[in-house]
Amino acid sequence: LDPHEDLVSRNARFASRDRDALPAFPRLRTLILTCADHRIDPAHTLDLELGDAVVLRNAGGRVVPAMLPMLELLTAAGVVDAEAEGGYELVLMQHTECGMARLGEEQRELAADYLGVPPGELDLEALRDPRDQVRVDIDRLASDPAVPGSLSVTGLVYEMSSGRVELVERRSPLRPDA
Ligand SMILES: [Zn+2]
Repeated sequence: LDPHEDLVSRNARFASRDRDALPAFPRLRTLILTCADHRIDPAHTLDLELGDAVVLRNAGGRVVPAMLPMLELLTAAGVVDAEAEGGYELVLMQHTECGMARLGEEQRELAADYLGVPPGELDLEALRDPRDQVRVDIDRLASDPAVPGSLSVTGLVYEMSSGRVELVERRSPLRPDA
């Protein structure tokens, strides 16, 4: 089977199973931003069921400039609601052994453009530490007035070798004055 045929037949198996009606709003009142890495799919690593959480994935699971309009659109569409009863959680999950940690001088311009920083200010060495970068990204969210301060934000690092997540930082709410 070609990969696309394989996927279509996998979907046929999925569609043939009994499914419950799903809530329009994510059950866990949570949006997860994580890396596109195929080894850390949060449906598996965070043991999610269909309908539990909104999942956004990009290279590194980073709060890049392109992620902010996405967050605004999802808020406008009502799947993210910072005022939801019980609160709304934004989870950042980066991981060890990430491809972002292997970027070198040759990729400086590309990486800087992606992350929205001037090439001269990009600290390639810092990209090797996901704990450090999770904190950088929480600061980025906190300093952007377009991100609702009433969100709770949790920064996790997924350890590839153990399969466990480590809590790096939690801010609830993101901005105390919210
Ligand atoms: Zn990664």
